[in-house]
Amino acid sequence: MAGIYIHVPFCKSKCTYCDFASYPKEIGKADLYFACLYKEIKAKAESLKNYEFDSVYIGGGTPSFVEPKYIFGAIKQLRNFYKITETAEITIEINPGTLTEEKLKIYKSLGVNRFSVGLQSADDRQLSALNRIHTAADFLAAAKLLKDENFSADILIGLENQTEEDVKKSIDLATDSGASHISCYALKPEEGTPIFGKYLNGDLPSEDETADLYDFAVDYLAKKGFVRYEISNFAKDGKVSRHNLNYWNRGEYIGFGVSASSFIGNRRFTNTEKIDEYTACILRDKSPEIFGEVIEGDEAEFEYIMLKLRTSDGFEFSDFKDRFGSDFRQKYAEKIKEVLPFIDIDDRRLRIKPERLYVQSEIVIRFMD
Ligand code: SF4
Repeated sequence: MAGIYIHVPFCKSKCTYCDFASYPKEIGKADLYFACLYKEIKAKAESLKNYEFDSVYIGGGTPSFVEPKYIFGAIKQLRNFYKITETAEITIEINPGTLTEEKLKIYKSLGVNRFSVGLQSADDRQLSALNRIHTAADFLAAAKLLKDENFSADILIGLENQTEEDVKKSIDLATDSGASHISCYALKPEEGTPIFGKYLNGDLPSEDETADLYDFAVDYLAKKGFVRYEISNFAKDGKVSRHNLNYWNRGEYIGFGVSASSFIGNRRFTNTEKIDEYTACILRDKSPEIFGEVIEGDEAEFEYIMLKLRTSDGFEFSDFKDRFGSDFRQKYAEKIKEVLPFIDIDDRRLRIKPERLYVQSEIVIRFMD
């Protein structure tokens, strides 16, 4: 089974920390963009005719900001040209303040059965400092509409002046209003974003302070019955994200739209980030890909180790052998010794100790030659 990702590159305004492909000033290009997106979906169908897809993820940008007719068209197009299983998980990202009863009705009629809502913080001052378009009350209103749905909330850690009490309030707001899944991200200020200036000025919590806040969030979520199944993801009652688990299992997926990435066969490829370049390519029947590479041998093994060790289950040696034909413990005996203090290992599997997941990347790098 494989996954499908669709990118919607429009937002109402730009958040101060955002380095995603989202272009608030380009909303006037939505008609052309979606026409090209539908064309790309159709154009790739023939080469993917043997695939079945059990997850679709509509992300962005803010998919809930654009008129729902565009989402309607995208999902219809997928259903027309691809084998989407009957029980497929279909997720759409929602920005509080942009969801209406009408939109929700349309999404549900299309089979959308999972909603990922960007809360980020329960504190209106922090939301405003991030240039988010919504308040905590807007989140509550969206959560009310979604009360009978499977929904997730995103929370950011490492905000200016953020305290444990703030983190607790954000988690409480999300979980008490019905979210059964939480994605909790540590803010990583990227160069070129407005928040990077604050980072340089020392206005944001230090890395150690953010790590402490994150540890607090992990403990608090556990107390509330949320199981950490990946570095930044927590689920209650088994409501994990199938689509994202597929990424971490090094499963295949196809991405459509600006900046969308794909992994099909043993090839990774990515579309251009620029809307104009994307639409120009599609209109001329040219590929919008700007990058592509085949991943094989040790590189594929490292990718597998890196992705699987993001999950709290890690990986089983039998699965490694099935995929790569070699005995992990023999091949990586020396590396295993190096990382022994940070891992749990038995006859069957290897995983990172739960308390070390936060520094997972520093551990897995040792498996690289
Ligand atoms: S809503 Fe999301 S994609 Fe849009 S600007 Fe904010 S962080 Fe970026």
